[in-house]
Amino acid sequence: MREIILVKYGEMALKGANRSTFEDVLLRNLRFRLKRIGRFSFSKAQSTIYIVPEAKTDEESAALVDAVMPRLKKVFGIAALARARECEKDFADISAQAVPYLRDALTAAKTFKVEAKRADKAFPMKSPQICAELGGILLSAYPHLKVNVNEPDVTVTVEIRDSKAYIHAAREKGAGGLPVGTAGNALLLLSGGIDSPVAAYMMAKRGLRITACHFASPPYTSERARLKVETLCEKLTPWCGSIAFYCVPFTEIQEELERSCPEEYFTILMRRLMMQIAQEIAKEENCGAIVTGESLGQVASQTLQAIACTDAVARIPVLRPLIGMDKIEIVDISRKIDTYETSIQPYEDCCTVFTPRHPKLRPDPDEVAEIQNEVDFSEMVRRAVEGAEKKVFAQHIAEEQGSVTL
Ligand code: ATP
Ligand code: MG
Repeated sequence: MREIILVKYGEMALKGANRSTFEDVLLRNLRFRLKRIGRFSFSKAQSTIYIVPEAKTDEESAALVDAVMPRLKKVFGIAALARARECEKDFADISAQAVPYLRDALTAAKTFKVEAKRADKAFPMKSPQICAELGGILLSAYPHLKVNVNEPDVTVTVEIRDSKAYIHAAREKGAGGLPVGTAGNALLLLSGGIDSPVAAYMMAKRGLRITACHFASPPYTSERARLKVETLCEKLTPWCGSIAFYCVPFTEIQEELERSCPEEYFTILMRRLMMQIAQEIAKEENCGAIVTGESLGQVASQTLQAIACTDAVARIPVLRPLIGMDKIEIVDISRKIDTYETSIQPYEDCCTVFTPRHPKLRPDPDEVAEIQNEVDFSEMVRRAVEGAEKKVFAQHIAEEQGSVTL
């Protein structure tokens, strides 16, 4: 009999009428994530997706399950998942399979309980009877065990479904959130720093598909700096799925700013121009929002007044998921999602190339607009958008190249 994976989707089940779209998007995301690993069939019933490896032997099916579990733990929209043994809908088969299948889990445990979920009400035994009888059989097979219904080390679950029954012991926590794509698309401003990859993770968790754009100013910024940002994209693919990435040539605009604007306004004007370029790319990529890694008060450009100056040129919402977080919290997430080590590599970012000695801390939006109007940037913005190079990153490619390990 086969081993399969049960995927439970918690939060999605609350979404009423949207539920079937959510299920469809999750199924599509799962198919995409697993397609390079092997053949699987997918089906759904009662807030559960069943992923069945198409394998000839038990060993082959267990190997496929081993390979996909770590990947599935990074797919948003999954509340919990469990490897499970498929059985005939017959108590004799269920108990005969439960004893060997649960050996590892039960040998390591001191206490356990059995739970039964009977979706098929025609099954001849009621839930309490299934629990009592299977509990007795497991106790005699593993005599070191004791039953503890309140805080067991292991909960053995028996699910009686329409055509089959399933047994599982270890339910693992999923990544939570909503399936990527259910909330639409957003354009991430991705620097090489610690914060913006974390912002991508957080918004992908709320169901946004992420497209990234990075501003590079060669020769002031190096090819290595750009490769670092590409590595960050690869590291984000297990969470975000595939990511389209734009690298925008920003040198001309930065040189013009350095030549013609007052030094203290340099950063704020640069950020407004980034925002203007990003909006053009967002339009092309059908993105309904821009995402940044800003956090209030972290640096001079992240005061309320500076944010007001950048938002003044934004025509779509600018989402700043890190706005209320402090650096330690952000670093914890960046370690968890495995972007930290890449982010701390010391390559220059275009923001650090021309840094004013005394940036304006509380710029006035009208004054900033007036200063910007002294130069016509529209052609330069157009050239930057047109000169942007696009690349698409996907998890299976990142894995082949070794930049993502599971
Ligand atoms: P990060 O750690 O993400 O670099 P930061 O704390 O260094 O953020 P800033 O350098 O002020 O802060 O950048 C704020 C945000 O602006 C970044 O989180 C990112 O969204 C965006 N940003 C900055 N530089 C770039 C760049 N070169 N390309 C694209 N986006 C950028
Ligand atoms: Mg930065």
